[in-house]
Amino acid sequence: MIATPTDQNANEHLDVLIIGAGISGIGAAYYLQTEQPAKSYAILEARGASGGTWDLFRYPGIRSDSDLHTFGYEFKPWEDEDAIASGDKILAYLRETVTENGIDRHIRFNHKVLGAAWSSEDARWHVDVERADTGERVTFSANWLFSASGYYRYDEGFTPAFEGAESFGGQIVHPQHWPEDLDYRGKRVVVIGSGATAVTLVPAMADDAAHVTMLQRSPTYIMPVPAQDSIANALKKVLGKKRGYALTRRKNMVKQRAVYSLCQRYPRAARRVIRFMNTRQLPEGFAVDEHFNPSYNPWDQRLCAVPNADLFKAIKNGKASVVTDRIARFTERGIKLESGRELEADIIITATGLNLQAFGGIALSVDGEAVTLSDTVAFKSMMLSGVPNFAFVFGYTNSSWTLKVGPLCEHFCRILAHMDENGYDTCYPEAAPDMATRPLLDLSAGYVQRAVDHLPRQGEEGPWQMVMDFRRDVEVLRNGPVTDVSLKFATSVRELAAVS
Ligand SMILES: Cc1cc2nc3c(=O)[nH]c(=O)nc-3n(C[C@H](O)[C@H](O)[C@H](O)COP(=O)(O)OP(=O)(O)OC[C@H]3O[C@@H](n4cnc5c(N)ncnc54)[C@H](O)[C@@H]3O)c2cc1C
Repeated sequence: MIATPTDQNANEHLDVLIIGAGISGIGAAYYLQTEQPAKSYAILEARGASGGTWDLFRYPGIRSDSDLHTFGYEFKPWEDEDAIASGDKILAYLRETVTENGIDRHIRFNHKVLGAAWSSEDARWHVDVERADTGERVTFSANWLFSASGYYRYDEGFTPAFEGAESFGGQIVHPQHWPEDLDYRGKRVVVIGSGATAVTLVPAMADDAAHVTMLQRSPTYIMPVPAQDSIANALKKVLGKKRGYALTRRKNMVKQRAVYSLCQRYPRAARRVIRFMNTRQLPEGFAVDEHFNPSYNPWDQRLCAVPNADLFKAIKNGKASVVTDRIARFTERGIKLESGRELEADIIITATGLNLQAFGGIALSVDGEAVTLSDTVAFKSMMLSGVPNFAFVFGYTNSSWTLKVGPLCEHFCRILAHMDENGYDTCYPEAAPDMATRPLLDLSAGYVQRAVDHLPRQGEEGPWQMVMDFRRDVEVLRNGPVTDVSLKFATSVRELAAVS
């Protein structure tokens, strides 16, 4: 879905403004127009195209590491034979969702939201937007803001300062800004990193490059998984697209949950199993413990999946290798390591991660007071304490992100219905001032730790917990009441009417 030059929606008022046309924003639009068809809405999208992550990243081999039966939407079956899918297939699926459901009419491309100010006087958000194509500033107002802006900065990925980087004679590339014309045929490539991006890039480049070296500071858990799910494909044939998809989705949710719980409960056994699977795929005598045995427990950080063991195959056939060491500095010819070894390279890829950013970097204020995110507490993993009529999506980090989108959007639509039924125009969670809180995310990954102090917090119990469990979300968000002692509804903030 590409921008048309005819978007002209300055000073428009909508019931709901969705921010971001990625997998979450498109999903939110679908639920909103299905369950609240009378509500007006628009999606403000900073870029000139929909798809978010799946349009932005263009590096070789870009793919999911979740299966699309859970990463896809509940309402739209994933029909492709591949369960772990390439970026272009995911993008095509998202754009098909957009056109099939007439969501394209609602997307305002090149509309970057800079700030949003809540005014209790008119119970509205006043939203300040920059047109990325013309530089013009336009404003919108809305009863509700729904942030589906992902979790990282789009303008720059994370690159640590490498001493001597300017002296390197070759090319340095960040996967978030992949040059379309990058020619790596016959070149020596070093990929710095050990996360999902690095393990995707290494086998994808290995066939054409002279050699690809994955240079990691420390190992990550890497699990080989089949790219196709034979049970899913059989179920589709026998039961048809819809029922086959629904059953596979359920099967995979149970599997994801079981793997996660077993890793959490029996970390030593899980570590042994993963090590065994890795050893089987690697050449004899390979230093498995040095390169594939992390210091942390499985699922303390997101587990990396490699379809059809492609990374291990590239290592086995000598096209790729792994080096676990620390970088002393870049040199003219490559990278000098702390061990004293030098890795020669023509191209260095810094797969060093993302810069985490909440709510698209939007400056929020409530009645003239700036909202400091770290002073807020997430409520039902979808609203912020003290911030009226504001909802957000932050998907699961321990299974497919999108699984969260369905129950969360359904709950959001039920809040809107409850407000209409009772004549309320304002709704916000209120946290007790002495409530114990902890960081929003439990992951120990570097990109989370670098940003966690600037994110909202979560509470220790009940609706104040950031839930990463689909079954609990079904209980609370899909089937539980929308009212709660901590959720305040009002016809205006001055006439507060708490409902419990
Ligand atoms: C390379 C990569 C692979 C991944 N693979 C998986 C996977 O296999 N499984 C999984 O569960 N998760 C995966 N993730 C996490 C992934 O990002 C999410 O699962 C999912 O794509 C997030 O969708 P989203 O719509 O919430 O956010 P995004 O895809 O980030 O989309 C957000 C949209 O909001 C827009 N936006 C942001 N700020 C503003 C603003 N201020 N104004 C207007 N628009 C704005 C952006 O331009 C973008 O279009 C992966 C992430 C990356 C980077």
